Amino acid sequence: MKLESYVKGHWTAGSELIEVRSAVTGDVVAEATSGGLDLREALAYARNVGGKNLRKLTFHQRADLLKKLAQYITERKDQLYKLSFQAGATRTDNLIDVDGGIGTLFVYAGKGRRELPNSTFLMDGAVEQLGKTGTFAGQHIVTSLQGTAVHINAFNFPCWGMLEKLAPALLGGVPVITKPATVTSYVAHALARMIAESGILPEGAFQFIVGSTGDLFDHLTCQDVVSFTGSASTSEKLQRHPVIAKEAVRFIAERDSLNAAILAPDAAPGSPEFDLFIKEVAKEMTVKAGQKCTAIRRAFAPKAHVEAVIEALRDQLDKVVIGNPELENVRMGPVVGLDQRRDVLAHVKTLRTEAQLVAGDPENFDVQGADVLRGAFIPPLLLHCADPVHAAHVYSVEAFGPVSTVMGYGDLDEAIALTNRGGGSLVASVYTHDPKVASNLVFGVSSFHGRLVMIDRDCAREQTGHGSPMPQMVHGGPGRAGGGEELGGVRSVHHYMQRTALQGSPAMLTGITGSWTKNAPIVEKDRHPFRYHFEDLDIGQTFHSKERTITLDDIEHFANFTGDTFYAHMDEEATKGHPFFPGRVAHGYLLLSFAAGLFVDPDPGPVLANYGLDSLRFTKPIQPGETIKVRLTAKDKSPRNKQYGEVRWDVEILTDKGESAATYELLTMNAVRPQA
Ligand code: NAP
Repeated sequence: MKLESYVKGHWTAGSELIEVRSAVTGDVVAEATSGGLDLREALAYARNVGGKNLRKLTFHQRADLLKKLAQYITERKDQLYKLSFQAGATRTDNLIDVDGGIGTLFVYAGKGRRELPNSTFLMDGAVEQLGKTGTFAGQHIVTSLQGTAVHINAFNFPCWGMLEKLAPALLGGVPVITKPATVTSYVAHALARMIAESGILPEGAFQFIVGSTGDLFDHLTCQDVVSFTGSASTSEKLQRHPVIAKEAVRFIAERDSLNAAILAPDAAPGSPEFDLFIKEVAKEMTVKAGQKCTAIRRAFAPKAHVEAVIEALRDQLDKVVIGNPELENVRMGPVVGLDQRRDVLAHVKTLRTEAQLVAGDPENFDVQGADVLRGAFIPPLLLHCADPVHAAHVYSVEAFGPVSTVMGYGDLDEAIALTNRGGGSLVASVYTHDPKVASNLVFGVSSFHGRLVMIDRDCAREQTGHGSPMPQMVHGGPGRAGGGEELGGVRSVHHYMQRTALQGSPAMLTGITGSWTKNAPIVEKDRHPFRYHFEDLDIGQTFHSKERTITLDDIEHFANFTGDTFYAHMDEEATKGHPFFPGRVAHGYLLLSFAAGLFVDPDPGPVLANYGLDSLRFTKPIQPGETIKVRLTAKDKSPRNKQYGEVRWDVEILTDKGESAATYELLTMNAVRPQA
């Protein structure tokens, strides 16, 4: 298998050959061709072709592309499984890498459709009035960067790593150049071929570089984003590149991490939480042969339970079948290659200067269906550090394999202090059924962690695991973990976009954003705005209702009809000295109901449904005898499909004296004009 790069829409071989070997047999499985590419041109192509094509699409259209891509890869995922076996991945490991990557695309497709507007930019926050009389205002907008997302991935998740970075970048409208780690690049290459051959992404949106990144960094600009996953040493080297500093290129780093699992004092042996702790530590040591940035490297337990923890873990780890990952009964494959094996064992040697090996023997273990001398096999190795307070390596050495160290702590303060000595981690998990204990631990360690998982009997069946980053939740951590953040739903889309504070007159802001801003001119037409089809409705189109006086009868009728007989509506005496109400007042919901009665145009027409309110505030209590009226203004429109679109209306309930009584945004679905 000869691995080529996909640059400027063509598969191109590099000038140098790198042999890539199977983790299982040690045989050469692929030849990666590296170097000799014009990467300045690749960046220019991404910016000038891919970026322009993507930015023409709305978030919803980009989300649809992600969904199609996810479906396309799903139909072909067996090819990826097959190749991944050579990288040492078992069937379970493939579920995380291949299916996890596809699942991430689906989640971003769904979120893009549901949580982002059907437009090419975002509005961030409310309009800020900046002038006394309302002629000058501010609105933050968020637009796509006009550069390239350069994604550099670690070897352990060739599929998930590529797709979890790809999804938010493409959704944000930024083309991608992705580079896998060479040692598993044959898996990433197969995925890249699928993406390219699918023809789903617009031209220039996706390029793939195998091998060296050459002089790519020399040509980056302030519009590019580098998102790196890998070791701290590579990350530091890349971050020190002069162009990164000079151009202030955004650099997202996901690095190694000495993640902790903390067994709380209440989780004694025999409790469900004790068992969950054992299960999770054993699982994190063996899934992907422990080659997970989120794996549990430090397992903390109360001193009194350390012996029981070691005993229970030994039992679990003894049962792990190591061998050829293609075999059904094999639970753990090899690490990715012989170099990695050497690295892990060297790090274990360092750890053993302050910790004792209590389970597993690297010199003596069984392997099924493979040759232990040719494959990169290591058994799960459990260490016990008896003096964690004075130890150092357990807080600095990452043995990126099936390795973890058990440590005892005295009290919760000590557990917190020892956990934080990891210097910033991706994740920690806490095993307790006591929310007070969990709360102490959480607020003691949260600023050092990107994610905290509380695992107990109540969530045991559904919990997604210490080591699984979820696309909905942020992945990343401070300090040693790189200080980066990925995923977290639409949060990561913002990494590929620029927030800009827009200041100007309300009319100007409305004209630019297409969203009506308070104090901008309104549009009044002869017919009620509800009579206009989606595309015929003007932004700013306004309806002023008639007036209606609210009586005590209205209030009592509403109270008895709905059952809302709260004293402020029913009992004059009880409102005496009330901080908000001068006497009996109308229900807020009564005002909303009357408002609807005042602004609704009742006949069948283009308005199909009211589907909610946003930002509702009651700003002035209304007493019996007061008169209200309503202003309804079309604020913005978001196309949904060929039949209808969403209209957001700015609504204000006013008194006849012009005082504001309530403000909100009403959402309706409006029919598109029928085609002739
Ligand atoms: P690595 O050696 O740092 O390599 C990471 C990536 O950087 C690879 O694609 C590598 O490409 C590339 N690279 C290396 N030198 C480069 C350079 N001078 N210019 C441009 N790219 C360069 O890390 P790894 O061994 O693949 O991964 C294991 C490490 O990643 C572990 O420490 C683990 O904790 C960490 N990790 C972190 C996360 C996270 O989300 N935080 C996830 C997974 C892994 P080549 O392969 O071609 O050298």
